[in-house]
Amino acid sequence: MEKKTPLPLQKAIYTLADSGTVETERIAEMPLRTLYGKGTDLTDKRALKGRAKRKLTSQVLCVLVASELEKREEMELARTFWNTFHCQRKLVSHEGRTYGKYCKNRCCPLCASIRKAEIINRYLPVIQTWEAPHFVTLTQKSVPAKNLELWFFGVTKAFGQIKDKYKKQNQRGGEIRFMGIKCLECNFNPKRRTYNPHLHLIVPNKAMADLLILEWQKKWTEKYTKPIAQHQRRVGHLERDLMEVIKYGSKIFTDFDARDKGKMPPKIYVAALINIYKAMKPYRLFERFGFDLPKQKKNGVKTVIPANQCKDFVYASEVYDWVNTKTGEGLTGYAPTALLEWLLTENIDTDLA
Ligand SMILES: [Zn+2]
Repeated sequence: MEKKTPLPLQKAIYTLADSGTVETERIAEMPLRTLYGKGTDLTDKRALKGRAKRKLTSQVLCVLVASELEKREEMELARTFWNTFHCQRKLVSHEGRTYGKYCKNRCCPLCASIRKAEIINRYLPVIQTWEAPHFVTLTQKSVPAKNLELWFFGVTKAFGQIKDKYKKQNQRGGEIRFMGIKCLECNFNPKRRTYNPHLHLIVPNKAMADLLILEWQKKWTEKYTKPIAQHQRRVGHLERDLMEVIKYGSKIFTDFDARDKGKMPPKIYVAALINIYKAMKPYRLFERFGFDLPKQKKNGVKTVIPANQCKDFVYASEVYDWVNTKTGEGLTGYAPTALLEWLLTENIDTDLA
């Protein structure tokens, strides 16, 4: 079957192929190679395919967003997305592990997945010791794009004020130790053209979840929020709920209202993504409050090895995989599902915001 390359990628392929060749020649002359970090296990095929899927999504998304930003002459931000476009472009394999360079941008699906894993490893053992962890969602009324920055400011400020109130009370001998983890998130509703910055949290018990919702409603008042739109429940599967809380940044595919689920397919809304990204920029997405984590050793592992002990791979958009620069062999064997291919080729909206 003939492979179809997602439309926004077609433009970018030539540059990628050209620079890939130059890079290969340069690499071949180098006698020594430095590998950073612990690398990724090459035998974990599922993880490798997941990475290839994120890379494909990231490629399409970055071309769309960066091109739109260039059109608007927002060059600095466009550069951030081009940087993410090249994240993990080259991989080196050595003794069953792969090594690559990360862009570390918050818009990058590849880096987000690494951060997610790191956060889970650090937080899971701590949260497991909590009495009865509860999952909380705090929302307020949705707003149009023009109010989005103000709303992010409001959400962050309101939460900060609640946190400070209990911190002060606790310092003066109050019994409540206000603590938990929180993540800032935002969805776009294309039907109503509104955005809803909201918070997902995990707190140690039900009393704290109730208190938080009560304080949140007091802050926003009935004018801007409804008690029915705030949620809390006992954490069922801690690792799964933790993953839900730390879903970094905004979603790539916007979900429609629950009512429309199954009737309308998801879509990529480029302008909405840019709006969310820009409005979120000044704020931390993930944060803990009221407790500390055990100290962690820095893991800046660096290995220097002879170049002839490595295999070099370069990402090739045409085949959705990293390709061995000598043999042409694919690294992961990943092939996108028909649905994903369709989403990335046909279901992109660049106007609606
Ligand atoms: Zn990255």
